[in-house]
Amino acid sequence: MKKINLKDLSLAEMENLTKECGEKPFRACQVFEWIFQKDICNIHEMTNLPLKLRDSLNKIAFLSHLTIANKRISKDGTIKYLFELEDGKRIESVLIPGRKRLTLCISSQVGCKLNCSFCLTGKGGFVRNLKHSEIIDQILSVRREIKSSQQAHNSEAGDITNVVLMGMGEPLDNYENVIKSIKTMVSPYGLKIPARRITLSTSGLIPEITRLGDENLKIKLAVSLNASDNETRDKIMPVNRRYPLERLMKTLKDYPLPHGSRITIEYVMIKGINDTLEDASRLSIILRGLKCKINLIPFNNFEGSNLEAPLYNNVEEFQQLLISKHYTAIVRKSKGADICAACGQLRTGSRVK
Ligand code: SAH
Ligand code: SF4
Repeated sequence: MKKINLKDLSLAEMENLTKECGEKPFRACQVFEWIFQKDICNIHEMTNLPLKLRDSLNKIAFLSHLTIANKRISKDGTIKYLFELEDGKRIESVLIPGRKRLTLCISSQVGCKLNCSFCLTGKGGFVRNLKHSEIIDQILSVRREIKSSQQAHNSEAGDITNVVLMGMGEPLDNYENVIKSIKTMVSPYGLKIPARRITLSTSGLIPEITRLGDENLKIKLAVSLNASDNETRDKIMPVNRRYPLERLMKTLKDYPLPHGSRITIEYVMIKGINDTLEDASRLSIILRGLKCKINLIPFNNFEGSNLEAPLYNNVEEFQQLLISKHYTAIVRKSKGADICAACGQLRTGSRVK
């Protein structure tokens, strides 16, 4: 019989397992704390569990580990971690230090099905979904690394404060595992990360956005819009042919936002494609009535792409137009571009250098 990876279980599943071993459900909370808070390597380290339970668990279960295969540090302090999974596939996470926060950008899939023309992950095609353990292990491994290394990361925060699901993959295309992982992140027995410090970014899968709203997780939502009309969006984001802009905007307007929260609209600016004042004006119209803030992300180039970054002036004018229409619009400086850790530069199968 194949052993169960304890890191793949939700708290409810862990309760069932401890019950099967003849123990009370509260033991599951203890197991959760050992795994996700104390980050133990070995089932026998759970010293407040009865020896009998530890023995039973040891027979049927194990604990996975994600080792860091490579780490690259950018001039701006961003750190990119490369992980090799048990089947040899590779994923990346990016640690972005701020003055008071440490944000970890994690992956949800190996590759992505959605094939956006400006995204390197999309170019590589889809390989597979990440498991609950693989999503959570990215956080645990980086956390462990921060604690053990003397690495100065220029942040007052000693530990990861924020998690963004903006790495490789479309999180809502791996719905079950991603939601289960978020529940483990926020659980008082799990990683104890406040929901408002977790952001999920999606390219706009309408049914899953609605479903996410119904989960009432109180996490933040970011949507990659990247265009203000269907013609342009169809071209750069094929997902728009399935879920066109007007339906997407309606879904976002109906989304049950946590109190005081706003949806982040991400807009990758690409030269000659979506960077004119006309685009900005159309964007300001379609966003009317939506509680949102806009992140303008100048396109990050990568090898083999025929797209170009916008001119600095165009970005500035675009932003000013949105501000004049009373939107919050921020130009997101890309971090880690020198180590290919910036948005859209993460790829499947990066070689260990
Ligand atoms: N699949 C999700 C999350 C991962 S992509 C999504 O699409 O939202 C995370 C962000 O990186 C998205 O906003 C996407 O539009 C942006 N991005 C992708 N490729 C980029 C590139 N080459 N330059 C700048 N931003 C990019
Ligand atoms: Fe997938 Fe997001 Fe990249 Fe599009 S931008 S290909 S949805 S990861």
